[in-house]
Amino acid sequence: MMDILGKPATMAMVSTSNTALPFKRKRSRCLIDCVGNATGDLLPFKDVTKSKVISCAMEWAELNGNEGELAGEIIGKDGEVLPDVKFQEHGYHRHCYNRFTDVSKIARARTKKQNTGK
Ligand SMILES: [Zn+2]
Repeated sequence: MMDILGKPATMAMVSTSNTALPFKRKRSRCLIDCVGNATGDLLPFKDVTKSKVISCAMEWAELNGNEGELAGEIIGKDGEVLPDVKFQEHGYHRHCYNRFTDVSKIARARTKKQNTGK
């Protein structure tokens, strides 16, 4: 079916994700992109998610691996958030957040480090 302007009827059927953000400001990147191939919307940080990421970054910073490197880009050696890390300008994938803040994963990495020195 065509409308009077001649556009295909399917144009009106473009669905919007029901997980769409309430606002559309484009976020430049995922601050904790530890999954690699994560997809989906970048979600904005809120106070609770931000403080959770910071506390987990402090744990990861002492560990090795991808998450440890990411943590080193978020907080400095003194445990303070680096001045060029702007939580309000970036977002995160839910998948990345779940992984980065997985306390059992942190615990396993810590055990591995204690056992192997790596
Ligand atoms: Zn990500």
